[in-house]
Amino acid sequence: MKKMVFNEVLQGRLNKGDDIIEGLTRIITQNHIVAGVISAIGAVSKARIGYFDQEKKTYEEKEFEEPMEVLSLTGNISLKDGLPFAHLHIVLSKRDYSVIGGHLYNGTIVYALEYQIVPFYGGYFKRQLDDETGLYLWEK
Ligand code: ZN
Repeated sequence: MKKMVFNEVLQGRLNKGDDIIEGLTRIITQNHIVAGVISAIGAVSKARIGYFDQEKKTYEEKEFEEPMEVLSLTGNISLKDGLPFAHLHIVLSKRDYSVIGGHLYNGTIVYALEYQIVPFYGGYFKRQLDDETGLYLWEK
């Protein structure tokens, strides 16, 4: 656990057709943000999300080729391989109001997306492979 501070919020929106991960990663990289939180709502034209199989220790990926609402996108920012990395999860609703969600992957395309990014200062976490879980987790 580290104590960090915050004093600003970056608020904006991505463009229609942007890849969510590429767009948000570009913003945090250009602003030299190495720690913080991200949240967003909006809509996507399609999505690619994942589920981590804890037995196999691998991600399953699935594409949903349909317009959906972004009910919640939330995540954090840390360093992976020395670069700012956004770990994002998303909850989406379909036309029939059913809800799906998972770990967000590249290939999720913006229809409209309003975000807030809150940078943290005074510390950061690096991701490293955790043998017990098979995940790239924060250092302790
Ligand atoms: Zn995840």
